[in-house]
Amino acid sequence: MQRVLGVLLSVSWGGPAPRSLCSPNPCCQSQNVMKVLAILYDGGKPAEEEPRLLGTVENKLGLKPWLDSLGHELVSSSKEGADSDFQKHLADAEVLITTPFHPGYLTRDLVEKAPKLKLCITAGVGSDHIDLNAAVDHRIQVLEVSGSNVVSVAEHVVMSILALVRNFIPAHEMIERGDWQVSEIARNAFDLEGKVVGTIGAGRIGYRVLQRLVPFDCAELLYYDYAPLPPAAAKAVNARRVEDLKEFVSQCDVVTVNCPLHEGTRGLVNAELLKHFKKGAWLVNTARGAICDKDAVAEALKSGQLNGYAGDVWNVQPAPKDHVWRTVKNPIGGGNGMVPHYSGTTLDAQQRYADGTRKILQNYIEGKEQEAQNIIIGLGKYETKAYGQR
Ligand code: NAD
Repeated sequence: MQRVLGVLLSVSWGGPAPRSLCSPNPCCQSQNVMKVLAILYDGGKPAEEEPRLLGTVENKLGLKPWLDSLGHELVSSSKEGADSDFQKHLADAEVLITTPFHPGYLTRDLVEKAPKLKLCITAGVGSDHIDLNAAVDHRIQVLEVSGSNVVSVAEHVVMSILALVRNFIPAHEMIERGDWQVSEIARNAFDLEGKVVGTIGAGRIGYRVLQRLVPFDCAELLYYDYAPLPPAAAKAVNARRVEDLKEFVSQCDVVTVNCPLHEGTRGLVNAELLKHFKKGAWLVNTARGAICDKDAVAEALKSGQLNGYAGDVWNVQPAPKDHVWRTVKNPIGGGNGMVPHYSGTTLDAQQRYADGTRKILQNYIEGKEQEAQNIIIGLGKYETKAYGQR
């Protein structure tokens, strides 16, 4: 019903409809100096040369001059280690800003060491690096900049699907090596036209992937999601819902994962489920690494059960140098489309999530209502329906 209303209110399905804001709206506690801790990554020389790399320690999401002018303290740090800046500053921070690209993992243990923490802002989309249940218990609000990078990711998904299906990466590597043997590449290159493509999760990103696939004349577009699309939205992309996950994957040539990571999706794509995939299917995961079982995916690719695996998300980030997903290949030496976590952090996306972060902070400081669609955890409860069925 909520989705139907959402569709009636907007021209096309843009994702779950906002819930009405029912929690009271806390604002900045200390009227004098509030400490805002931002866990970002060291961008190094590129960040010094390119100020639009906003999500870095160097450029601080563009927030520093503004927060300084208001008299608030912004501390930015990369993370890691027991005596890291993250842990040190968390002790008296009121607001924590993190990004999914270089996640500051806020465990329950750390939540308990942060008595002043009132608000966590995810500069981007996806707050699984925060123990959301602990945030509920400690009445810490968690907000994301919903929608800020969903087009960026959807474009990356379509690119990755094409790269795998058309065997693009081995073809390019061959050219760099100085070789030229078309048969070696063409033996595993296909058209996307006529294939069945399905998305696990048909929210903002999943739906945009389906929209972008329409002109490719796939045999069918499928989706698996506990929340059905509004009929008009499903009709607009001609997508069919399959309610059983095993049945869903068994019908797909390509599966793309676009749901959040939560208790119900951790390890969802595991050895057992992979047995139900079509032999030689392609799998693209730009949602979260831990939704797919690391070793089971590697085995499936090595054995040829999967023809390809691509994505930008890893079960630990940054991924260790010897992470099997960096190098694992299918039996004929291709099928790996893995990259670092960057699909949702194009320069365009960074501007949007930096602006959105500032807006959330500003609402907080001024005691204004937050946009309902951004609230993942309100005061003491889940406000979103996307992080599992509760
Ligand atoms: P969204 O909230 O708009 O949609 C998520 C959808 O997943 C919802 O429709 C929800 O019902 C569905 N879902 C939840 N649990 C499910 C389950 N068990 N099975 C099937 N469907 C389920 O979110 P979104 O904006 O589309 O983003 C989705 C996720 O993509 C984020 O949570 C994040 O983890 C990831 N993401 C990655 C990047 C990146 O840079 N790689 C960027 C943005 C988002």
